[in-house]
Amino acid sequence: MQDIIAGFLRFQAEVFPSRKQLFKELATSQTPKALFISCSDSRMVPELVTQREPGDLFVIRNAGNIVPSFGPEPGGVSATVEFAVSALKVSDIVICGHSDCGAMKAIATCACLDTMPAVKNWLRYSDAARMINEAKPHADERSRVDGMVRENVIAQLNNLRTHPSVALALAQGKLNLHGWVYDIGSGSIEALDMETNAFVPLASHPSARKPDGA
Ligand code: ZN
Repeated sequence: MQDIIAGFLRFQAEVFPSRKQLFKELATSQTPKALFISCSDSRMVPELVTQREPGDLFVIRNAGNIVPSFGPEPGGVSATVEFAVSALKVSDIVICGHSDCGAMKAIATCACLDTMPAVKNWLRYSDAARMINEAKPHADERSRVDGMVRENVIAQLNNLRTHPSVALALAQGKLNLHGWVYDIGSGSIEALDMETNAFVPLASHPSARKPDGA
């Protein structure tokens, strides 16, 4: 804990003064352009891998970068999605999975989660992905987990589309959805090509060539 406190003191003494203008502007308003949904995993840091500043990304992080489909009792994730889309009017939502994801590994290897009932229950939102991934052949456990990570991103994009605010913004052409997978070991990102349903390097993905807002 001491290194966290020391980090804050360093931020207060060195970083904050050097970027006073940015924090002054942010003190009373925010206009993030994107909602970034990723895993809570300590190794995946959205602002670092996308080189964004404070104020740029509205972020949801949870175990498995999961978005429950919209239902009669919306929870925290649903409320945050709705706020980002309806109030902040983000133009893009990225769901970003990652390699070696503990949550996806637990699903892919059918790990016993009896001592973690909340996790077990939460991961049911990945059931569609689990069934699709299990129906595919896998050479080894690594490939089974990698497949689960990717199918989960696709399943959570589908869940996202069930949210009324998202459905409306999509119908009005005001919102773009993106599915990414970040590889921790290589620092690379693959993005889902919605036309082919395949993951391709982000640099060669069609969205990398579009101007902002297109
Ligand atoms: Zn994870």
